[in-house]
Amino acid sequence: GVIWYDGKLVPWRDATTHVLTHTLHYGMGVFEGVRAYKAEQGTAIFRLQEHTDRLFRSAHILGMKLPFDKATISEAQRTVVRENKLESGYLRPMAFFGSEAMGISAKNLSVHVIVAAWPWGAYLGAEALNNGIRVKTSSFSRHHVNITMCKAKANGNYMNSILAHKEAEMDGYDEALLLDVDGFVAEGSGENFFMVRNGKLYTPDLTAALEGITRDTIVQLAGEIGLQVVEKRITRDEVYCADEAFFTGTAAEVTPIRELDNRTIGAGTRGPVTARLQAMYFDCVHGRAAA
Ligand code: PLP
Repeated sequence: GVIWYDGKLVPWRDATTHVLTHTLHYGMGVFEGVRAYKAEQGTAIFRLQEHTDRLFRSAHILGMKLPFDKATISEAQRTVVRENKLESGYLRPMAFFGSEAMGISAKNLSVHVIVAAWPWGAYLGAEALNNGIRVKTSSFSRHHVNITMCKAKANGNYMNSILAHKEAEMDGYDEALLLDVDGFVAEGSGENFFMVRNGKLYTPDLTAALEGITRDTIVQLAGEIGLQVVEKRITRDEVYCADEAFFTGTAAEVTPIRELDNRTIGAGTRGPVTARLQAMYFDCVHGRAAA
């Protein structure tokens, strides 16, 4: 396969960087996670423009000037899907600082951009989409920098996510739920959170969570079927008592949550509202009219 690297297509094995790459040391970089799906008219990248816009917003937040414009980065994503002959798959645009100097200041460093893509199935396993996952509230919360900078999909923000996910995995769960510094539900390690109670859909406001593009799609789809969406601070016990809960993300798509901290949520399986929104989401990404 090939990777788009600073405007050139290079073979997968040659898409390398120096060990003194600044971002490798200090974690100051930005990235996106994007999916391409097989649609009737060929392969389509889902909400490409929004992902490219968010990459540029993330870079702006970090004060990182990308040496390409949005049209070029969007085209790079289409090119990578086409050149790798992917019918469907996951795309990873990423921008990082070069290796000209060490030290915290990134002022005089070059900025590089890559776009890679590969086939990727269900992020949390195919079973997860049907039967839901077991989740653990993490001992790692969204700390201050994480919260004040959480609109940036930045490499440095993921230490928390990785620690949280690893802790959950080691304790025998599928995924972690991170709280904010006040103890309210923030998001998953790489997913936004939703719950259903008494026929209404609830999701945390975006104070301590990434502005998820899947989240936004689900809010739109809920609107289409007249399901009321309430953005509010959510507590752990509210989740324990919810009728249904699910995560959303480009990677996780719409993944039902059947258990939090060993408390069964609702019937302990994918609930009817989750199932309906999940089906609508898959219709949407595959460019099918909703059933
Ligand atoms: N929250 C975090 C921390 C993420 O990394 C992601 C993944 O991109 C999401 C939420 C979900 O966002 P999206 O639906 O745009 O993929």
